[in-house]
Amino acid sequence: MVGVRFKELDEKLKKVYAKVRGLDDYYWSIQDGEVRGIHKRSGMRVRIRIAEGREHADKMSREKEVGVIDLIVIPGKGTFYLNNGTFIMSLKFLRPTLQDVSDHIVWSGFKVVEKDGALVQEDFYEYLGGRLIEHLKRNMIGGRDYVFWQFYRCPYCNKYVDIESLPRHMKAHGEDVKEWSEEKYEVLEINFADGKVYNKFGKEVPMEEFSEEAVDFIKESFEEE
Ligand SMILES: [Zn+2]
Repeated sequence: MVGVRFKELDEKLKKVYAKVRGLDDYYWSIQDGEVRGIHKRSGMRVRIRIAEGREHADKMSREKEVGVIDLIVIPGKGTFYLNNGTFIMSLKFLRPTLQDVSDHIVWSGFKVVEKDGALVQEDFYEYLGGRLIEHLKRNMIGGRDYVFWQFYRCPYCNKYVDIESLPRHMKAHGEDVKEWSEEKYEVLEINFADGKVYNKFGKEVPMEEFSEEAVDFIKESFEEE
């Protein structure tokens, strides 16, 4: 039965699904002429719709669903643009775009909760959609032009401390991070191409806002490039 139902799907829909099903960062499903994905690590949702052309896609882009990353596939080659926060593109860009989306969903902390008698870790993630758009515009590649990094805003000195230096930094304030059951980081972008650090809104974070260790870490990472 499933096989029959699958075969009877619209040809365009099958073509779209065939492009994404190998991306195991997401759970995939097909319903009502759309392909839906749930990002496995974060639970973020994506929806892929199919339009007849640009005009149709632009119209569809106005129908938003809260908390869903929207992509629309249109016929033809070489089209890629953004409208109303929706990625509209030719089929060949679909897979790399979904990969990019996944790469811009970054771990930002955890919290230990009690569940069925166990202490269970819940993770937090941040989707850096604004940075994704900037990276697409400037053809920037993760790992080469920039990296995302977790920084902790120290409650004692109000500076950003990089995740690696945090235990040492907190020790200097008389705190032991081992005793913490919760940590929430801010994800910042270390941009090698510009030699700057940006927050998720694309605003530069000046070096004065970082702790001594974090400044050393950032400077070293710029020098390595
Ligand atoms: Zn501090």
